Formats: sequence, C-alpha cells, structure tokens
Amino acid sequence: MQSTIEIVMGDITKIKCDAIVNAAKSSLTGGGGVDGAIHKAGGSTILDECKLIVAQSGECPTGEAVITSAGKLPAKYVIHTVGPVWEGGTQSEPEKLANCYRNSLFLAQEHGCTSIAFPNISAGVYGYPKKDAAKIAYHTVKQTLSQTPAIKKVVFVCFDEENYQLMLKESGK
Ligand code: ADP
Repeated sequence: MQSTIEIVMGDITKIKCDAIVNAAKSSLTGGGGVDGAIHKAGGSTILDECKLIVAQSGECPTGEAVITSAGKLPAKYVIHTVGPVWEGGTQSEPEKLANCYRNSLFLAQEHGCTSIAFPNISAGVYGYPKKDAAKIAYHTVKQTLSQTPAIKKVVFVCFDEENYQLMLKESGK
C-alpha cells in the first residue's frame, strides 16, 4: 500500500494518529506554541517522562527526536523533536530541520506506528522562513517514506492559514 500525505488545518492535540510530533526545546521542559498546547492537553505524565529522558540521556540535540507516551491525548505517543532556531541560514538549519522530520519518522516506525502527525516545526517562534520550512517538511517526508514502509499515513497539521497554503503548494495541490 502506498503511503498518504494529508495536509489539514487544525490543532495537533486533537489528532488521532499513532504518534504526534512536538516542536520541543532541547530541555524538553515544555514552553509556548505547540509545545505548550501538547503538554497542557496531554497532562503531566508527558513532562515527567521528558524529565526522565533528560536525566538519563541529557538534553535533546537539535534535529534529534525522543518519544514518550501521549498522556490524555488521543494519540499513542508524542515524539519530541528539536527544530533549529533560524539564525540566517548560517548554522546548517536546513539539514537540522530535515533531520527532525527524518528522525521522527524513523522513531515512529521503530515503535510500531503506522500514522504520524507533524506541526510546522520551527515555523513559529524559532523563526524559520515559513516557505522554506514548508518545502523542507514536505519533501523530506516524501523522500523518507520510502525508507519507512510501516508508516502509511502522514498528516501535516497547520495551525494558521499561511502555513496551510504553503504546505498545499509544496504538495502540488
Ligand atoms: P517552534 O519553536 O518550533 O517555532 P512553535 O510552537 O512556536 O514552534 O510553532 C511551530 C508551529 O506550530 C507554528 O506554525 C504554530 O502556529 C504551530 N502551532 C501552535 N500551536 C499548535 C497546535 N495546537 N497544533 C498545531 N500547530 C500548532
């Protein structure tokens, strides 16, 4: 079966996928934006698991991903990945952003997930130019799916009209 990529407008905390991805900070301590929304809706067990991961393995480097349960959310897992802060493109931000999508897909597959939802990583307070972020998001996922055959469905959950339109454009729709 061919994998599908959907692009929707909405709140990722409401999405029923095996895994939803959080645009986290390295400290995995929660924060604003999508990170805050996930911890708020999912409850304190997610933060407890994040703290344990940091205590055992240290902070999560940019581009890497870790997994926790999803607490009260409809998803089974939350994959926390750390997007790059936009610094003018001088700090390998494109590669780091692509790694977020790749590593999240691999981690989801390792945990038996068949569906995964992504927010627009780094396209909020981390300041990544939205059009470039959308391009990397869509094409990295499309390319990586050939290496993650267990993943049958990817949903890009956009929270604002601008990112939604940019993602649709990248998908050719
Ligand atoms: P980053 O620090 O990686 O830029 P942000 O949370 O600031 O992360 O923003 C990433 C994207 O997530 C932005 O496009 C923002 O509009 C979006 N976002 C915020 N809340 C939610 C939510 N509940 N569901 C989906 N996307 C969200």
